[in-house]
Amino acid sequence: MTFKDLNIIEPVLEALIKEGYTTPTPIQEQAIPVLLQGRDVLGCAQTGTGKTAAFSIPIIQKLVSDRSNSFGEQSKKEKKKIKALILTPTRELASQIGDSFAKYGKFASLKHTVVFGGVGQRSQTDALKKGVDILVATPGRLLDLAGQGYINFSNIEFFVLDEADRMLDMGFITDIEKIIKKIPAERQTLLFSATMPMEISSLAESLLNEPVKIEVTPVSSTVDTIDQYIYFTRKENKGDLLLDILGDNF
Ligand code: AMP
Repeated sequence: MTFKDLNIIEPVLEALIKEGYTTPTPIQEQAIPVLLQGRDVLGCAQTGTGKTAAFSIPIIQKLVSDRSNSFGEQSKKEKKKIKALILTPTRELASQIGDSFAKYGKFASLKHTVVFGGVGQRSQTDALKKGVDILVATPGRLLDLAGQGYINFSNIEFFVLDEADRMLDMGFITDIEKIIKKIPAERQTLLFSATMPMEISSLAESLLNEPVKIEVTPVSSTVDTIDQYIYFTRKENKGDLLLDILGDNF
């Protein structure tokens, strides 16, 4: 299986080749076709499985296709509207997701920005004022900026709730509920969570429309050809021990 087999369009394929991606990961193989069909997805997957590309690639592809189907109706000067909203619990995750959209969307000429709390809002509001197609956000800052009138939710077509279980643990549930109320009911929704406790299942039920359920186990971090050993030692002896082991074997 290659990305070409998944019917990925040329500008995205080119970006993936540039990133050195040759084969889709299991979650990408399963999620990309159903997302391109417009289905909602409930993904049980951890970080490291390639889930970010699994949702960002089809979103980019659909936005690019929508734009080419609109036969230039949207003039280049017209301000871009938020069409995809990705909610994630931490600023680190938000930045990583933003970087992914930058990488996979390199040749797609879509605008994206990332908003999160704990930093000044000026550069975020400047980007929002210019207009973006894709917005990656943490819930608190998103609501804060929405309260100040910087966010127009009415054109959102894709809504992704990433790391839903962590959002719940971090106490974001009321913020999420407030945000959901602002988003158009007609949309494609994706919910990803590493675990599926009761609260997530009921959130998924209220949020998703006949979702395709996808579950992947994390990619193994070790390979069979590498033998692993564990040595217990004091911190200050680590270097000497390592030299000793390497000396024995090389
Ligand atoms: P994620 O689970 O989305 O945090 O992705 C984990 C890492 O895998 C990231 O560093 C991605 O750049 C990388 N990655 C995602 N998909 C692929 C792929 N198909 N081939 C190679 N690397 C990938």
